[in-house]
Amino acid sequence: MHEKMNLLKELQEIDQEVSSIEATQQGYHDELEAFESDADRVQGMLDELTAELTLLQKDEAQLQQDLLRERDNVTRVEGRLPGIQTQKEYVAVLKEIDVAKKANKDLEDQVLAKQQEIGALEQDQQEKQDQLNVIKGNAEARAAELSGLMAESAATLQKRKETRESVASDLPAPLLRQYQTLFKRRGGLALALARDGACCGCHMQLPPQQYNSLLRETEMQTCPHCNRLLYVELRG
Ligand SMILES: [Zn+2]
Repeated sequence: MHEKMNLLKELQEIDQEVSSIEATQQGYHDELEAFESDADRVQGMLDELTAELTLLQKDEAQLQQDLLRERDNVTRVEGRLPGIQTQKEYVAVLKEIDVAKKANKDLEDQVLAKQQEIGALEQDQQEKQDQLNVIKGNAEARAAELSGLMAESAATLQKRKETRESVASDLPAPLLRQYQTLFKRRGGLALALARDGACCGCHMQLPPQQYNSLLRETEMQTCPHCNRLLYVELRG
């Protein structure tokens, strides 16, 4: 029973280390994932801006076309001036020119406004792109830092798991299963020291008879309160 308990202690130590390595690996993974979701978020904003810009540029192109047509119109109406015969006709054509020029000016203002809107969005787009580049740069730098640590921890984990298998194979299967269940349910502490008549896992008193038989080290026992496998420290 003493030998089995020593194997279990060794197993628990390895299992705790394995859990801690796995938690560290998860931490690395979460850290890199946070960069990724941050980059995705900025990329999403960038995509929206690009879509908005495409629409605005289309609007501007349409306005520029309208403007060309309106300029042609002014030229066309002005071309009628030399052929005018009457004062009345003259006034009418001048009025027409005036209207066309106003329309022209109006379109020019619209083009200008559209261009300013586009300029502001382009600036925003550039800022987001810079932001994205910074995030990606940081992510790459951190990933490079972590890749060494990750490889190291994967190698350690592999070694620990191999040792674990060899220790576990020396234990009877039912005891191993009992230990594994307890390890999971009791937060990585399947074994508990029994001292001064109490279980150190849950700090409850053990029945005196059980405690005495534990001291005699006759058979494997579990705490009646927390079910942990009990052991006593040998007096040296
Ligand atoms: Zn207990």
